[in-house]
Amino acid sequence: MKINENFLKIQNNYLFSDIAKRVAAYAAANPGADLIRLGIGDVTRPLTPSVIDAMRSAVDDMSDIERFKGYPPEWGYDFLRSAINENDFKARGVNLKDSEIYVSDGAKSDCGNIGDIFDVCNIVALCDPVYPVYVDTNVMGGRAGEFIGERWSDIYYMPCVKENHFLPELPNKKVDLVYLCFPNNPTGMAISAAELKKWVDYANENGSVILYDAAYEAFISDGSPHSIFEIEGAKTCAIEFRSFSKTAGFTGVRCSYTIIPGELERGGVNLGALWARRQATKLNGVSYITQKGAEATFSVDGKRQGREIIEYYLNNAKIIYKGLKALGYEVYGGVNAPYIWLRTPDKLTSWEFFDLLLNKVQVVGTPGAGFGPSGEGYFRLTAFNTLENTEEAVKRIAEI
Ligand code: PLP
Repeated sequence: MKINENFLKIQNNYLFSDIAKRVAAYAAANPGADLIRLGIGDVTRPLTPSVIDAMRSAVDDMSDIERFKGYPPEWGYDFLRSAINENDFKARGVNLKDSEIYVSDGAKSDCGNIGDIFDVCNIVALCDPVYPVYVDTNVMGGRAGEFIGERWSDIYYMPCVKENHFLPELPNKKVDLVYLCFPNNPTGMAISAAELKKWVDYANENGSVILYDAAYEAFISDGSPHSIFEIEGAKTCAIEFRSFSKTAGFTGVRCSYTIIPGELERGGVNLGALWARRQATKLNGVSYITQKGAEATFSVDGKRQGREIIEYYLNNAKIIYKGLKALGYEVYGGVNAPYIWLRTPDKLTSWEFFDLLLNKVQVVGTPGAGFGPSGEGYFRLTAFNTLENTEEAVKRIAEI
């Protein structure tokens, strides 16, 4: 018997567990401290009335012998797949089949599990800084090699820093799997259609597959593409991940969807068919109540109520962005995403700045170094707290 030793290679704990430990230690040493958490990317606004009504009525369905539902379909109920297609894709001129949409329990699960359908020897390219899940799941899957210095030997890193406007540059060699996330966590930057087209062309020319995480698309405010499938040629090279978590406050409900176009084949094999098999084998679907709630986000009222919440967070983002800029900080993001990415002042390391904010003004953020070596010298603040706390946090940062 041998365990999967790749798990032993994973560096430290998950970033947010490290932060939680430091914050818990501070809170234990300073009882009554009034902490403001602008760290983890979790939502705070409650579910909208439309979603709640739909979920309540779904519970009623489940209590009736005629309307009761057992296991849901493995890839999602038709009513949700078709609502997603109509509202998220057809409305933007993207032509998909409902059957190319696979409903699931979270974009984290899907971008982690997608590795199951790819060989271990594929070369993976990642942005740096990056959402840590892409790294750790590839370590578990045996695609990362060894951790040397501060990088994985087999991963191709694409630094996203101020000098390249936080956009990855095309690899100077052939890579197989490219993870892109726009609007980006952690930098908050979106990508233009012209920039994204370069990636689609690269992937089609090299036979690569782009794993496109669009978990934050609802925050786009400047006309950037919401879906990679808005770009010509993407259907033969891309898989897209979407989630109701940040767009509809579903972080605690759990519902997401992954799009794999029928045209996407590698080695003569249809990738959607592999994913369908993977999901049908390892996932027993997403609950009817959850999917009814998700469907309600697309009703007229549901859309309006959801939009109000997105605007609420975007307003918080603006308050942080403008407030810090006025204080002389170098600030990025915040326009198309609930994340503000700033340069740490006075050449502090990102963990030093974390400690300074925590100890001096009781504001919790996320050190950029936790997202990869190119995140050093940067810091992430999120717009997911209340308006009052957001304003108070900016006031406190002014006192540093
Ligand atoms: N993708 C990115 C880039 C994220 O930042 C997050 C959550 O923070 C997720 C995916 C996870 O989404 P879900 O809640 O659907 O698992």
